[in-house]
Amino acid sequence: MKRLIVANWKMNLGPGEASLLMRRLDEHIEAKSSTEIVICPPAIDLYPLAKDLDRKKFKLGAQNVHYLDSGPYTGEISPAMLAGLADYVIVGHSERRAMGEDDSLIAAKLSAAVRNNLTPVLCIGENLHDHQHNLAERVVVDQLTAALANLTADDIAGLVIAYEPVWAINHHDGHPPRPATPDDIRFAYRAIRTTLEELYGEGGLAGVRLLYGGSVDPDHCRAYLEMDHVDGLLPGTSSLNYESFAKIVKTVQSL
Ligand code: PEP
Repeated sequence: MKRLIVANWKMNLGPGEASLLMRRLDEHIEAKSSTEIVICPPAIDLYPLAKDLDRKKFKLGAQNVHYLDSGPYTGEISPAMLAGLADYVIVGHSERRAMGEDDSLIAAKLSAAVRNNLTPVLCIGENLHDHQHNLAERVVVDQLTAALANLTADDIAGLVIAYEPVWAINHHDGHPPRPATPDDIRFAYRAIRTTLEELYGEGGLAGVRLLYGGSVDPDHCRAYLEMDHVDGLLPGTSSLNYESFAKIVKTVQSL
């Protein structure tokens, strides 16, 4: 299975800046058949970036999507509209959960993505309170089970699941990021695999890729990639700096 790196640019960079960063990434990153690189810019950048994209090197992903294909939903973007622009879509990111997205909305968005041939990158992970109160595994299993409520075994072939402990994400709130260690997070990959097997049988894991996200940077990324069952990374902050991101890509490609 190809390793996968999903860059989440979050609410940063308008079209001009996005094109510039994409140019820099193109100059500093080589295409390798072992690795897939997905860039998730703000929605407004998808169209200009898609026009000039070197698709052998990069794919595009959306950071969010509506659960219906069209309708009176001011400000929303439907999965049908992303056709031809994005191949992937992030669903269930903790920053969107914090804005009010609940499990049933996330499950509906996953179905919508699958229905429209977008590969979902489902984000799950516990917050600091749950981490400190030994509830992390419960949260991971519950979020995963709820998100997959509408999906069959066929639907999840190709699914990407990013485990992102919320306490390890860089919130740019004045607190220094607190990167997770492999020992902190090993339980999550066991729990995800066990849950998939319980829901879909042993075959349920086939084609599903598991990522790690949360303050991933060039110095820490190798340790995550060397863990069993971690197929790639989801960097946020580091993906906005072409040198950092290119170093992360090189590390992934060197393994
Ligand atoms: C994220 O929010 O998905 C993320 C991993 O961000 P950062 O790398 O900045 O912690």
